Amino acid sequence: MEIGEILQRHGFGFKKKYGQNFLTDGNLLRAIVSDAGVGEDTVVLEIGAGAGALTRALAERAKRVLSFEIDRTLRPVLAETLAGCENAEIVFRDFSRCDLAALEKELGEYVVVANLPYYITTPVVMRFVEEAQNCRGITVMVQEEVAERFAAQAGSPAYGAVTAAIARRGTCEITRKVPRTMFVPRPNVDSAVVRILFEEDRLPVKDPAKYRAVVRAAFVSRRKTLENNLMQAFGLSRVQARAVLAEEGVPEGARGETLTPEQFASLADRLSELLP
Ligand code: SAM
Repeated sequence: MEIGEILQRHGFGFKKKYGQNFLTDGNLLRAIVSDAGVGEDTVVLEIGAGAGALTRALAERAKRVLSFEIDRTLRPVLAETLAGCENAEIVFRDFSRCDLAALEKELGEYVVVANLPYYITTPVVMRFVEEAQNCRGITVMVQEEVAERFAAQAGSPAYGAVTAAIARRGTCEITRKVPRTMFVPRPNVDSAVVRILFEEDRLPVKDPAKYRAVVRAAFVSRRKTLENNLMQAFGLSRVQARAVLAEEGVPEGARGETLTPEQFASLADRLSELLP
């Protein structure tokens, strides 16, 4: 049975405010599951079950799928589309309000796989990057522009605070581009699947909060030099800021966007010593 038909039969109306753009193409769904490296031992956390097309494709390969869905009107639809999927469970709740630490205790090691609602893409990904302990990877469909920001190289126009935050926890790459025509209803932009693989001690820093603060300072005003941004953010004198950057081998007048995540980590550690 076609998903469109099932939705229609249940009188379902798409809600723009929840970013409801559903996938239906079986090949694409299986490709996302494969990009995510899901296998028979994998526990998957999905955000936004929608009509359950991705949930079902995941459940066919995974050990367990736990999926959040904010829209309760999808309950009868999901009961039908996920009939017989014993290893898939839907929680009808706003994921942004869930207690991630408690959820992680229940899940053990897991990966996140989702076709994310566009209006919460960055906060959701940042939440895992900053707070998750048991997450091994995130494979998500996001707007193409956002995917490019996540996976950007230092010095490129798309490189920013989010890129550097992700790079502290893992590697990030775009696995496939997905045209807008693959979604129902069709959005105004193209999308891409992006995969973040978490690595233990990928960029160890003395104090993750200091790393965050350095990165924030570096990008707060892109037109200013890193020296000026550091002075303002950390209350350093010009002499101090210049000395710190010289010790890190950063050329005078450099802007934050030219530093690699490794350089931010080293700079954050130096500032942790200077300003404990
Ligand atoms: N996974 C489905 C698919 O690929 O066809 C649906 C993807 S659709 C882009 C995003 C889904 O996330 C929608 O069903 C929407 O209702 C749900 N959603 C939006 N905000 C949410 C939130 N805060 N918590 C949980 N689900 C949410």
